[in-house]
Amino acid sequence: MRTKRTVGVYLRYILYGLLAVSLAAYAIYFTQNPNVNDLNRFLINAILGLSIFVTLNTGLLSLANAGFMAIGAYSSAILVAKVGLPLFLSLPLAMLICGIVGLLIGLPVLRLTDVYLAISTLGFGEIVRVIIVTTPDLTGGATGANLSTGFPFERMRQTETWMLVLFLAFLIYLFYWLDRSKTGRALRAIRQNSGAAATMGINVVYYRNLAFVMSAVIAGAAGVFYAHQIGSIDNNDFRFSKAVDILSYGVLGGTTHWFGPILGAGLLTVLPVSLREVFGTSVAFFTQLPVIINGLALLLVVIFLPGGLFQPSRYRHKEMPINEAEIADDVAVSKESPPLVEGEAVGPPADALPLLELHDVTRTFGGITAVDNISFGIPQGIICGLIGPNGSGKTTLLNLITGIYHPNRGRILLSGRDITGLPPHLIAKLGIGRTYQNIRLFNDMTVLENVVVGHHARIKTNLFTTWLRLPQERRQEALARQEALGLLKRLGLLGFASQPASKLSYGDQRRVEIARALALHPALLLLDEPAAGMNDVETALLAEFILTLKRQGYTVVVIEHHIDLIMQVSNEIIVLNFGKKIAQDVPVEVQQNAQVVEAYFGQE
Ligand code: ADP
Ligand code: MG
Repeated sequence: MRTKRTVGVYLRYILYGLLAVSLAAYAIYFTQNPNVNDLNRFLINAILGLSIFVTLNTGLLSLANAGFMAIGAYSSAILVAKVGLPLFLSLPLAMLICGIVGLLIGLPVLRLTDVYLAISTLGFGEIVRVIIVTTPDLTGGATGANLSTGFPFERMRQTETWMLVLFLAFLIYLFYWLDRSKTGRALRAIRQNSGAAATMGINVVYYRNLAFVMSAVIAGAAGVFYAHQIGSIDNNDFRFSKAVDILSYGVLGGTTHWFGPILGAGLLTVLPVSLREVFGTSVAFFTQLPVIINGLALLLVVIFLPGGLFQPSRYRHKEMPINEAEIADDVAVSKESPPLVEGEAVGPPADALPLLELHDVTRTFGGITAVDNISFGIPQGIICGLIGPNGSGKTTLLNLITGIYHPNRGRILLSGRDITGLPPHLIAKLGIGRTYQNIRLFNDMTVLENVVVGHHARIKTNLFTTWLRLPQERRQEALARQEALGLLKRLGLLGFASQPASKLSYGDQRRVEIARALALHPALLLLDEPAAGMNDVETALLAEFILTLKRQGYTVVVIEHHIDLIMQVSNEIIVLNFGKKIAQDVPVEVQQNAQVVEAYFGQE
């Protein structure tokens, strides 16, 4: 493990060194022979690198970019050469076409993940080529779009270096601010843990599609510039190997920061050029050298630097220092209730409708009935303990309430509203927050950013406010950050705010999860074994914290094996055994219930 890391460190130095040397070699070569073709090729590849970055950074292994590049290239070639549009008009039109195709392809294909997504998007790229080959009147068919098929070279060849520099700068501007926005955080959260992202109110399907369409549009733009660089294109330019090339910019350069794929494109484009200049093309081996070195670099990076060459610490991402004065002492707790002074008691109204109701809820997994015909109501403002032996269905119950699983039978109501079958992100938005028994933090984010993700549903910004830098953007972001800091302070986590979540102890990570769930301002908070991994002192502090939540008007369901904690905080306890509810009562009664003692306390 350690040797692997050491090799990784050296490999990074070697590759950066190689890049520096080949850049220098390229600069010398360029001064002697100012041919912009190689430079343009690098800039186009950098744009392609950004297109693969969007999908990889969202956790989507898509190989559709060569296909979108082809669509962009041919759309623009046809618009310029056959329709007679100027390049600057064909560019947005070609991008629009790619966006529409991206949406139509993405909707069905993004239901797949991993290798299945890769294969189906590769299939898409091949279909695009087949369409090009079989429509010779429009595209020039197998011969390509060139002079012989009616695409005049002089009119086609319009890509200038300054256009590419401008376009790349424009994209970098967009990516720079995207990274710091609600949308950027959502995309990263989905990559790190799509399940947890959904329970933070993030619409995973929507954001996956958004990323796919963005990627398609950028690849399409690269295709436009590509078509007008040499002045002729061929369907073979967009083969499978092109898709792999584009992917390797991301894999080599890194996919956690937008600069990574640009670096990867730089290395994989400039290095071969420099090698060609140094070794010439006379000996067969030397013509293949760039391919060999590229392949080797890629192989070594995948093994020794998983995540790529450029991996800035994401944790320094929030460069602003934390200012004690900006931290609110107390935080509004739910949509309904204004912030309350701590210690002020709010009892549930006497005639309160149950906040949460389950009616005959059943869920089976194969032959196991994990949750068996369970019904109960939880009134507003109480703490409800949920106990039972391991495997009795407690976690499954929370998964059913939060929409991760849907019941086979039965109904679940929140404030009288039927939420059965709703997707997790909608249930989160309706006011149910949760933590996980097996901690699910966004490990590559800071503790603070994790909690800011929890604010997702309440941050009223969009891509326009982000990219146009509207005042609303800064206000909303600052507010979310301030509230997140306030929550961290309440949970005693302020000292960890700028640390990576994965570096914390389990006990602290569980508290970060609680803070993240509270950021949602949930009416109902579900805690799955929050004290697991905590020592006695931490557990006692947690119990106290849960009690302050109750005083502030929260309704909490807490699963716990620390029976002292349950007895201390609960107004009511529900006991499960083999998926069935065997008791629901006040703590003293539950403790004396013979069935419960046998099923649960008897084991201790
Ligand atoms: P608890 O949280 O009370 O320990 P769980 O709800 O995790 O119990 O599990 C209840 C039962 O449901 C167990 O038998 C478990 O194996 C089963 N179960 C839970 N989730 C799944 C799943 N996704 N697939 C198959 N079986 C599951
Ligand atoms: Mg469990």
